[in-house]
Amino acid sequence: MWVEPVRDGGPTGIWEQRWHQAVMAALATWQRHLPITLVDQPERAQVLVERRRPPRLNNRASHGRAVLELLEVRRPRTWQLEPRVTVLISPGQAQPAIQATALHELGHAFGLWGHSDQPSDAMAAKPGAKPILELSERDQRTLRWLQQQPGLNPSPTP
Ligand SMILES: [Zn+2]
Repeated sequence: MWVEPVRDGGPTGIWEQRWHQAVMAALATWQRHLPITLVDQPERAQVLVERRRPPRLNNRASHGRAVLELLEVRRPRTWQLEPRVTVLISPGQAQPAIQATALHELGHAFGLWGHSDQPSDAMAAKPGAKPILELSERDQRTLRWLQQQPGLNPSPTP
C-alpha cells in the first residue's frame, strides 16, 4: 500500500499533515486485522491512497472513492494480472471525518465491496452523524468470512 506523502512538513502544510495522520490512523486500525505492507514507490503498491476529492459520479459528490482496476504487471520472471485499487480521500473534511472515510474506503480496497445497512458499521452504506473510527464486530466478521472464501487462500487446491 502507498499513501500520498506529506510534501509540506512546515506550518503551511497543516492540512496535508492532518489528512496524512487521519489516513494513517485508519490504516493502523486495519493493520490489527490484516497484514499490510507500506511502500514508498506507488508503482509497487496494489492499493494507492491519494489526497484528492473524487470527481462527481452520477451527479453526486462524495468525500471518498475506491476504484478497482485489473492490470497486467511485470514481476520477476513473469507477467501477471493483479488488482490495483486507487482510493481517493478528500482533504476537505474535519480530521475524524477523514479518518472515518479512509476506514470505509480502505475496506473496499481490501475486498469488502458491499455495504452494511447498520450505521454503526465502518462499511455502512450511509455514514451516520458520528464518524466510525473502529471496525465493528460485524465488520470484522464480514472480513473473516471474506478471508475464508475459496480462491483467496494461496494454498494449492487438492
Ligand atoms: Zn462505500
